Amino acid sequence: MKTKGKALSNIKDFKLKIEEYKEAFKNASVKVKDEKSLQELRNLYLSRKKGYLRVLFDELKTLKPTDRPKAGQLINGLKNYIQKRLQSLEKRIKVPKRLIREIDLTLPGRNRYWGAPHPVLLFQEEIERIFLAMGFSIEDGPEIETDYYNFEALNFPPHHPARDDWDTLYITDDLLLRTHTSPVQIRVMEKQKPPIRVINPGKVFRKEAPDPTHLPMFFQLEGLVVDKDITFAHLKGTLEFFLRTLFLEKINIRFRPAFFPFTEPSAEVDIECTVCGGKNRECRVCGGEGWIEILGSGMVDPQVLKNVNIDPEQYSGFAFGLGIDRTALFAYEIQDMRYFYENDLRFIRQFAQK
Ligand SMILES: [Zn+2]
Repeated sequence: MKTKGKALSNIKDFKLKIEEYKEAFKNASVKVKDEKSLQELRNLYLSRKKGYLRVLFDELKTLKPTDRPKAGQLINGLKNYIQKRLQSLEKRIKVPKRLIREIDLTLPGRNRYWGAPHPVLLFQEEIERIFLAMGFSIEDGPEIETDYYNFEALNFPPHHPARDDWDTLYITDDLLLRTHTSPVQIRVMEKQKPPIRVINPGKVFRKEAPDPTHLPMFFQLEGLVVDKDITFAHLKGTLEFFLRTLFLEKINIRFRPAFFPFTEPSAEVDIECTVCGGKNRECRVCGGEGWIEILGSGMVDPQVLKNVNIDPEQYSGFAFGLGIDRTALFAYEIQDMRYFYENDLRFIRQFAQK
């Protein structure tokens, strides 16, 4: 600065000098990039001992006393300007770049993605409504079970070959992830005396590799009725009513003999293929069979009743079970069960209105 250090005696030159300082400060402030250079600039102008403003205040003495108030105002004006400018520089340097982006009002807004009720849960509720209307109640049970509740009480003795059909995930020798919801039947019968009319929906686990029709975790729904004079006719009537209500059609239903350790006699229940009606040999849903297996069922084995201290001479009952995911597959005409658990919102949202 040309005028720096020169002794002054008139206000005009002093004003010029202030302008020069202001100009020099402006140029220097543009170059400030970090906290260090900011601090250097602040010291250069505002330091109490050697800052330029200090020097300017000292130079007031060289002016005529009548010019001093005016000159003082000029210095204060410069000082205010410098302080404000330093403050805004400081804000810009200290705010992390990430935050600057977050408060950028010119950026497009962010969408919030809404979920939707899961199709398997929706379908489960649909099934529950039908049974609740028939006077059933809903019972729940633990997902980690003992060998006793999952197998033994249901008439699978240790080493019984039927155990092999259940690909069981064991936690210890005695604890396992339940392979079906049937243990809830035992728990219900232990604490409740007939008449019993319950359904037990819930998660079950099997040691299976996922493919279009198998999953290591899926949902089952089990039903149990125990009372005096319960016959196979009750079983048949209940399941026919249930299936016709669920599929909203006059579909054909057939019962096939089957074996389950905990029911005698036992039957598997098929419905006519809802996609091809048995007319397409290439049908992907029924495999050309024309029938789809929906339920396992049967009259509760007298031994199972004895295991929970219910007298089989006095009482009889029936039980049934179905895979909720598997049945939803047919009801919604979905090709692959794995879609249910990929959590693709485009898939899940489709069912919200059904
Ligand atoms: Zn078919």
